[in-house]
Amino acid sequence: MPANFKAELVACFGQPVAENPTGVMQEAAFSALGLNWRYLTVEVPPAKLRDAVAGARAFGLRGFNCTIPHKVAVMEHLDEIAPDAAVIGAVNTVRREGERLIGENTDGKGFLRGVRVDAGVDPKGRRAVVLGAGGASRAIVTELALAGAAEVLVVNRSRERGERMVADLAAKTGAPIRFEQWQGTYRVPGDVDLLVNATSIGLYPDVDAMPPIDLSAARPGMLVSDAVFNPPETRLLAAARGHGLPVLDGLSMLVYQGVIGFQLWTGQDPPVAVMKEALRKVLLAEGNPQEPIENRLQVTNLPHPDERLAGAG
Ligand code: NDP
Repeated sequence: MPANFKAELVACFGQPVAENPTGVMQEAAFSALGLNWRYLTVEVPPAKLRDAVAGARAFGLRGFNCTIPHKVAVMEHLDEIAPDAAVIGAVNTVRREGERLIGENTDGKGFLRGVRVDAGVDPKGRRAVVLGAGGASRAIVTELALAGAAEVLVVNRSRERGERMVADLAAKTGAPIRFEQWQGTYRVPGDVDLLVNATSIGLYPDVDAMPPIDLSAARPGMLVSDAVFNPPETRLLAAARGHGLPVLDGLSMLVYQGVIGFQLWTGQDPPVAVMKEALRKVLLAEGNPQEPIENRLQVTNLPHPDERLAGAG
């Protein structure tokens, strides 16, 4: 067989991007499967995004991630947007099909995969409560709605933001999505099957913060899931455990959105445990636990608030 020294390339375009850990988990998976693929973490300022996408085409990149501030802006440079990414109004993963670049959003899908695989719960026909109405909530609520949840109740502090998101997503999905304003302590009703914290409450460095909720009426078996992944064990999850409830941490969502990206690019199933372990190592910032790792992990795969507003319209 002739030698082949050419690696297949994928990338992440963002600014700032240097501390985005996604490449660590993707490279760990390439290496584990013996794939000659590279994940390039590339600083791309907004004014150069058009050129960067043209470069991706010229270099024959197999795909790329977009992070802050490109998740909405990139959409106009692509050939097609997947239906759920269109509803969410943001793209975090681009895949190539022949010469065509197709925009996907794997954040909410990653959450769903974690719920199904790690927690063993199928959201179809279930009642969900999602705390928060930012980018994470938007992706999660969209995918829960598309997965056939019986009802999704969004509980958010700011009425205007919550109502706007719910009206938009209910209209686009036709699903039963409702809004309730979060005032004081929210008592989780006994008919809820899945509770999701999609706020930033509990995120490093506010690790002692706990969403003001009362779990005393929750039905046994209600799954409590936290989008916050730094730290992975939040006060909310500890409180849920204290009530004997099953829990799902934010690492699950983070890893599975990367797993889905890997599958879209390579057509292969990556070793999930390898990816999770690679990420956990970065998160724990071994040897330097005091380092503000939140800085690097704030660079999530969600759009900047300004982008979201632009995308929500
Ligand atoms: P946004 O800034 O877009 O939204 C934040 C949300 O949290 C808003 O709804 C806001 O309410 C609410 N909120 C913040 N502080 C409070 C408070 N003190 N009381 C009540 N509500 C509050 O953030 P994102 O949606 O981008 O991210 C949310 C969380 O999800 C972050 O912790 C992020 O790290 C995590 N995340 C995890 C991912 C994963 O893969 N695991 C992926 C992406 C994000 P209001 O509208 O009233 O301001």
